Order: sequence, then C-alpha cells, then structure tokens
Amino acid sequence: MPHSSQYEGKFQILVLSGPSGSGKTTIVERLVAESPVPLIKAISATTRPRRKGEVDGVAYYFLTTEEFVSRRDRGEFLETAEVFGAGYWYGTLKSEIQRAKEAKGWAFLEVDVQGAFKVVEHYPDAMTIFLKPPSIEICEQRLRSRGTDSEETIQRRLQKVHQELALASRYCYQVVNDELDRAVNEIISIIVKHAN
Ligand code: 5GP
Repeated sequence: MPHSSQYEGKFQILVLSGPSGSGKTTIVERLVAESPVPLIKAISATTRPRRKGEVDGVAYYFLTTEEFVSRRDRGEFLETAEVFGAGYWYGTLKSEIQRAKEAKGWAFLEVDVQGAFKVVEHYPDAMTIFLKPPSIEICEQRLRSRGTDSEETIQRRLQKVHQELALASRYCYQVVNDELDRAVNEIISIIVKHAN
C-alpha cells in the first residue's frame, strides 16, 4: 500500500531492533516503501568503518571518533551506544527526529536494545518492535553469507544476538521474521493500529 504524504495524525517514534542476521535491513526498506503512515528513517551516526557500497549520509553518517565525541558532548544525540564492544560508536542525532517531524512522518529508528531503552526513557510513548530471527542457526547463516565480516566480528555479533534475544520481551511487540511478506504485513498492521 503506498503511503500518503498527507498524514496529519499524531507524531510517533517507531523503534525497530533485531539482532544482526535477523533480516532487519530488508524489512526496514520494505516498511519505508510500503507503510501507509510515512516512515522517515533516522540516519544514525557511527564511527565504524564504512562497508563496501555504503554511502555517507545514506547508510549512516560516518564520523571520526573525535567528531562523534564532540557532537555527543554538545548534546546533539538522543542516544549513543557502543554496540558491539569493539570500540565503535553508534547514535541517533536529535536533528533526525526533527527532520521526521518536519517531513510529517513518523521517526523510524533502527537501533540496538541499549539505544531502544534510552529512546523510551526520553519518549515513553515510543512504539518498540523487536524483530526475531526464526532461529539462531538462520541468524548465523545470514551473518556469514554477508561475507564482509571477520570471524572475530561474527563471533562478537553472535554473542550479542543471545544478549538481545534475552531482552526481547521488554519491547511492545515481537515479530518473527520467518517469512518476509508475512513479517512486513504484521508490522504494517501494528502501525495502522497506532495511526490516527
Ligand atoms: P552494523 O551492522 O550496521 O554495523 O550495526 C548495526 C547495529 O547497530 C544494529 O544492532 C543496529 O540496530 C545498531 N545501530 C545502528 N544505528 C544505531 C544507533 O543510532 N543507535 C544504536 N544504539 N544502535 C544503532
């Protein structure tokens, strides 16, 4: 269903988390394209190296650690987290929330569990959805098939999958990504239920 740019309902923050390998990236793209409520994807800032094909200002704002720290110290972030314990930082800029408001859509944040909980502290009405992989094995397969990460990185990400799954019940909704169309439709139904 194409979305309407005329959405005049209440502003919302939609937070989606899911472990690496849960199939999040595809789901995010589908939701942005198909949600009946316009979803404005917040572009996160990160200090991690850019992967092949990632464009600055599209996939992420790629910042040096110095830039990231100074912008954090100036209070420009809604939340920041060192996601994989590897020294790389990720964060949501407050200006991204403002951009979504100005575009008359919902701010759509794709952040890890630490980030999600910090967002909820600031915006208790934020809608949180946890995307679950159908199994750990499928998650691992998806991580490996990306072919861009070292074994050490893969192991660190798998460890985080376990930690994140343990916190899934704290989200408003949990959706299993067993079948792409089904999962997208389930999330769209949740969005529609909350739109006014
Ligand atoms: P990537 O695979 O792009 O290196 O890392 C993605 C991980 O970082 C995912 O778990 C994703 O949810 C998380 N992430 C991406 N952007 C942000 C952000 O702005 N804040 C937080 N807390 N986590 C983020």
